[in-house]
Amino acid sequence: MTDVADLTTGGEILRITRWGEAVLHEPTIPVSQFDDELHQFLRNMFATMAAAQGVGLAATQVGDHRSIFIYQCADENDQVHQGVVINPEVILPEGTSRQLVSEEEGCLSLPGAFSSLSRPSTAICHGLDHDGQEVEIHGTGLLARCLQHETDHLLGIVFGDRLSARSRKQLYRDHEELEYRFGKDWPITPKGEFDPARAGSTQD
Ligand code: ZN
Repeated sequence: MTDVADLTTGGEILRITRWGEAVLHEPTIPVSQFDDELHQFLRNMFATMAAAQGVGLAATQVGDHRSIFIYQCADENDQVHQGVVINPEVILPEGTSRQLVSEEEGCLSLPGAFSSLSRPSTAICHGLDHDGQEVEIHGTGLLARCLQHETDHLLGIVFGDRLSARSRKQLYRDHEELEYRFGKDWPITPKGEFDPARAGSTQD
């Protein structure tokens, strides 16, 4: 058994894919091998997420087709949770327990741009951890949004797909204005002058 904290060191920073690259818009492949290769890949994902100052990262965002995401993200009480979810499924509240919240959302694969998006305020995510053990995460606050955003990624959905045509157009305009701050191989080459304080640094 490996502690998830061990996976946050010893990784190599990988290039983050951008919206429009096929891997981000295709469904992913379930994982059945829980071995050293997987653990090294997870180390690389944690190193990449840290370099990009993200709160979540899907495998497709580093060009890999496996159904995997990682997160290091605060809940509504500012408690930070970190972990790995493999083959995730998200369960959203229904009926009277369902409340929508509108917050600014960003994506490391469209760096620099944010748009307000309405999503359920809580989410439960089921899946397997890095050793193949079942996990269930109850997300509130930013963590609830992160679990939904990352599971979307693994279905080939980016948050722009959930925006109106008008909001999506504006999002792309904002990205184009700020794109010069991010090299083609970002975050292998660090960003120029992007300010992570903007919108609470909630890109995932
Ligand atoms: Zn994203």
